[in-house]
Amino acid sequence: SKPEPWKGSAEVDAIIERMAGELATLLEHRGIANPLMIGIHTGGVWIAERLHTLLALDEELGHLDISFYRDDFTRIGLHPQVRPSHLPVLVDDRHLILVDDVLQTGRTIRAALNVLFDYGRPASVLLATLVERDGRELPIEPNLVGLHARLQSGEQIKLTGPQPLELVVGQLPER
Ligand code: 5GP
Ligand code: MG
Repeated sequence: SKPEPWKGSAEVDAIIERMAGELATLLEHRGIANPLMIGIHTGGVWIAERLHTLLALDEELGHLDISFYRDDFTRIGLHPQVRPSHLPVLVDDRHLILVDDVLQTGRTIRAALNVLFDYGRPASVLLATLVERDGRELPIEPNLVGLHARLQSGEQIKLTGPQPLELVVGQLPER
């Protein structure tokens, strides 16, 4: 049986629309006319695709593929690993918008920033995440956030998508 979503597709759509509005305001504030949007592998790319369309950005969406290897039962000790990625243009002197689905420890974003700075020297980077959870291990915070999730230990958020996009709160899988 299908679990009841924590946030159904209509709610998620509305949250992403609100994020797009906030992002437009932020870009205007900073005088950024032509940002380069980059989604992080599956979930982040789904959200980036929505934001990219809502903001009517001209430039093709980029994506970074980051996977994990585990050396621990829990998420603590997960090491984000970056795989070959697709960036349509050079990042040098560009204003980047990094998009991910869930922010937890911050390690994935750190890995993503490392890769981006290996490609070149961006002018600036903004971070947008659909969900922000507790558990930060690095000083990384999103500029734009859709939802703050306060989860019990052993819980995680399951994102289904890309269409419809829904959030379900579930238990971490047993190993
Ligand atoms: P972090 O590196 O900040 O600990 O975790 C962020 C990355 O792990 C994101 O790319 C995100 O996709 C994934 N992640 C962390 N927590 C969750 C969660 O509760 N649900 C889902 N779907 N992904 C998560
Ligand atoms: Mg992810």
